[in-house]
Amino acid sequence: MTHAISYGRVSDAGQATGKSVDNQLLACREYAEKKGITIVGEFRDDGKSGTKLHTRNGAMDALTAIAEGDVDYLLVTETDRIARNSEENYIIRKHLKKHKCKLVAVNQSYTEGESEETDLIIGIMSNIDEFFSKINGKKTKRGMVKKIERGEWPGAAPLGFKNVDVGTEEKHHYVVQKDDETAPRVKEALELFSTGSYTAVTLRDIMHQRGLRSRSGKKIPKSSFIHMLKNSFYCGMMRYDGIMYLNRDAQGNETYEPLISRATYERNVALLGEHGKHADRSRKHDEKFYMRTILRCGICGGRVTAEVHEEKGKEYYHCSLTKQKHSNKGQNIDAKELEKLFAQLFGQIQLTEPLMQRIIAKAKEILMETHGSVDVKKRGVRNRIIKLEQRRDNLEEDRADKVIDAETYKRQHSKAVEEIHQLNQQLIELEGDRDVNIDIFNRLMLLTDDLQDTYTNAEPQLKRHLITLFFDRIAVKDRGISEVQHTKAIQVLRDNRAVIIRDKWLPRLDSNQRPWR
Ligand SMILES: [Zn+2]
Repeated sequence: MTHAISYGRVSDAGQATGKSVDNQLLACREYAEKKGITIVGEFRDDGKSGTKLHTRNGAMDALTAIAEGDVDYLLVTETDRIARNSEENYIIRKHLKKHKCKLVAVNQSYTEGESEETDLIIGIMSNIDEFFSKINGKKTKRGMVKKIERGEWPGAAPLGFKNVDVGTEEKHHYVVQKDDETAPRVKEALELFSTGSYTAVTLRDIMHQRGLRSRSGKKIPKSSFIHMLKNSFYCGMMRYDGIMYLNRDAQGNETYEPLISRATYERNVALLGEHGKHADRSRKHDEKFYMRTILRCGICGGRVTAEVHEEKGKEYYHCSLTKQKHSNKGQNIDAKELEKLFAQLFGQIQLTEPLMQRIIAKAKEILMETHGSVDVKKRGVRNRIIKLEQRRDNLEEDRADKVIDAETYKRQHSKAVEEIHQLNQQLIELEGDRDVNIDIFNRLMLLTDDLQDTYTNAEPQLKRHLITLFFDRIAVKDRGISEVQHTKAIQVLRDNRAVIIRDKWLPRLDSNQRPWR
């Protein structure tokens, strides 16, 4: 059965236009009845509710219901009922996509393909958003790189070490020092493991009995324990953002004392080598699984399976012959060749100039509003810093005037100083958010510019997402692509001439004139 929930909200112009919440929900009910959809929940925000999404209880309840249950549609009369601006639109569509729920505006017609266009933008943006988070992470940590280049660890200290402030009240300077309480146990664990007589799990349990605990005093999770065993930090090498740094300052002096020798570290990594291979295997498996969902045999329509030729170092795809037995002679398609054919498919898709302009305009709108909210947040944080600095100054004056005792001063003063430090960190992170958005925007420009080029140069994960964004099915036959079915969004945009597809591979219709699956 198809399930929907409906949502209504009074707009600012509200009742005057006859669009009361009751009428909106009624319109949704009528639509659902016509389409044979069952409404399993109705949510509403009446006049007095807040303006921001997170202060609108009805909307938040509706989104929660979508996250919890199996809801196929979110019904509204117009999209601006649920999303008041493009930032909310972005957030909500991302949420709906995640929970496989579709937004339907029962009073709006989609003949212009506008919702598909939005779907495409959101799709592009959320993928890029996800896969370029690495790049973004780098940008937020520019200051941290400076620190590690001085041989100082910029993050939270690993178990066995602690972050200590060796600076002054005016200028803080956080460094990492050996934690005498935990360091001996960590050292013991690392050295015992290097003997090769323990598996990571048994050693973790032994060390737990000997008193090795996580910072929160709990048993160390398996993954964290393995991470600890292969953490080069303990031998004086700090890996940060894929680059190895030594624990040495400009004069070549050690910035912290290693717990183990480099030889011990290397032995542990070698002993853990097997785990690395496992991770690799499961990544490969994901890739194959994804090809299975998208690829079809052009002869029988059955699933396609991958075969690895170890000695040739090659990988082939061919029909799994589960649907119909037929000869697979001449059907083995090389994975690398397939990759090239995929790139060509992207080369056949051209977003028209007006569509590109609209995508970019919409993306810009979303980014501007996100920027706006970053600025508002930053202003809030800055105001809090000013207040705390005033409080800190007052405390200093009070102490000078001997209005408060030394103990109270020390406690409250260090608390204020610590909070100021935290807020300054928050400011840096917020600035990073802005960089993230600019990055996404730049990527989007590139994407619309030359799809084939973007696809060819994308990382594997992004490639996968680009394919699922544009294609539902790709059939292979005689070592080539025989048929292609684009996603609904692309189909609608093509029908509206917003997307041009060179028609070598138009989707085939079956005998019932339904698109082939
Ligand atoms: Zn087949």
